[in-house]
Amino acid sequence: MPALSIQNIHKTFGTTRALNGVSFEVRRGEIVALLGPSGCGKSTLLNVIAGLETPDAGDVLWQGRSLAAVPPHKRGFGLMFQDYALFPHMNVFENVAFGLRMGGLPPEEVRLRVGELLELVGLPGFEKRDVDTLSGGEQQRVALARSLAPRPRLLMLDEPLGALDRALRERLLDELHDILRQLEQTALYVTHDQEEAFALADRVVVMRQGEVEQTGTPQQIYRQPASPFVARFLGFGNLLGGRLKARDGGAVLKTGLGDLPLNRDPGRPGSAPPVVILRPDAVHPARGGESCQFEAVVREKSFRGSTLRAWVEAGGLSLRFDFPASVELPPVGERVRLGFEPSEALLVFWQG
Ligand code: ADP
Ligand code: MG
Repeated sequence: MPALSIQNIHKTFGTTRALNGVSFEVRRGEIVALLGPSGCGKSTLLNVIAGLETPDAGDVLWQGRSLAAVPPHKRGFGLMFQDYALFPHMNVFENVAFGLRMGGLPPEEVRLRVGELLELVGLPGFEKRDVDTLSGGEQQRVALARSLAPRPRLLMLDEPLGALDRALRERLLDELHDILRQLEQTALYVTHDQEEAFALADRVVVMRQGEVEQTGTPQQIYRQPASPFVARFLGFGNLLGGRLKARDGGAVLKTGLGDLPLNRDPGRPGSAPPVVILRPDAVHPARGGESCQFEAVVREKSFRGSTLRAWVEAGGLSLRFDFPASVELPPVGERVRLGFEPSEALLVFWQG
């Protein structure tokens, strides 16, 4: 039985349909990321799960039991936000101890537990520090310690790293990953950042306009995005328009890059053309053996550490690729021959 079960949740604010039939499950000890653009309903869903919002329809179950009649403070869930205001007039100890004292834990046990948590989040000995004197990253560590202190059976994090700079975000993401794993913490992590979701989660739920667009492991979603929306959200922006021709039970798409074999039936004559996306990471300088090759002009290059991002022009299309960093491209303005295997590189979405 799943730990958390979200069943067909609907929620409307006035004329805004924030959630339109959302369902998914979280297993015990699993980290699930809710991934989607701003405004797609992620925070509303967390509030419904926390009991801070009442859904118009649908139910939230914990181990098979409805939480509809259980008030927020009895659900045993923890919440951590981006702008989790720590209590400014209290020191670190008092902030972390807050929920424990509310829960009636004896003072000596509170002291031990706070010490243990500060150790866990990498702030040993910070008890007496005034929270106003902490850096942004330290404050978020304290917020994490505070939300973990009462041992929540589910921890929900709403864009907790959103306010931090990139380097700090990456470091905290790694730490958070280690901490949640070490505790075998069941967690729901909300983000609009695909890299964060992939780095942290066992499974990802991709949301769009109040609905679940795709659910799967990071690898499944990256390998096989379920829709053009998910593909574009992952940064796969190379759209290949073209004319479709049926051939031998399959189809050929005639594009600016040449004739591309599509390994599926084109469907009814006259039906809408497919949306074809060329993965940015499955194209490389031609070595000779590729089934599809094309000439391109390098328009821009940007070294990204492990990858070399390049914008090229080919067959009237403007395309972006992520090559391995070891790839040497000719200078901007010059030509390069690129190649790919359609079965690896093409994502084909048949409409209707
Ligand atoms: P996300 O967290 O994915 O950015 P939200 O859940 O905050 O999205 O919002 C989803 C939609 O619901 C948005 O259009 C937002 O404006 C609307 N919304 C959220 N909360 C309220 C509210 N309390 N009153 C009115 N509209 C709301
Ligand atoms: Mg939000």
